Amino acid sequence: MALKVLTEHTARSMKCSIEWNSDTGYEVLEGHFRHVVDLPRQTCSCRAWMLKGIPCPHAIAALHHKRLNPMDYISQWYSRDTYIKTYSYFIQTVLNLKMWPPSTNPTVIPLEVRKMPGRPKTVRRKEASEPK
Ligand SMILES: [Zn+2]
Repeated sequence: MALKVLTEHTARSMKCSIEWNSDTGYEVLEGHFRHVVDLPRQTCSCRAWMLKGIPCPHAIAALHHKRLNPMDYISQWYSRDTYIKTYSYFIQTVLNLKMWPPSTNPTVIPLEVRKMPGRPKTVRRKEASEPK
């Protein structure tokens, strides 16, 4: 999934142009939108890089300008090792329901089912060709 997003972002980064750069930041123009990329902090003003952990198109444009590989900037949460680590433990089953101590709290009763306006009719509409 991360590689698919990175591929899409890389294609979008081809349409970006770098307006200005310094040692720490880049100003990247995508259409009419201007974004500021900070490579050491791994942030962009579009906030997509921080939210997803995958470099956004603006960051990729900046990384390419610095001749860095965007693959190296994908969050470790998407790595195979992290995935394996996450599912290395299994959830313990809960004991038999009859073995639970009885609760002193009031019983939770489900809400009364009420027909909502605009719901589909319960009787099927017959086709024009069907006999009545
Ligand atoms: Zn961005």
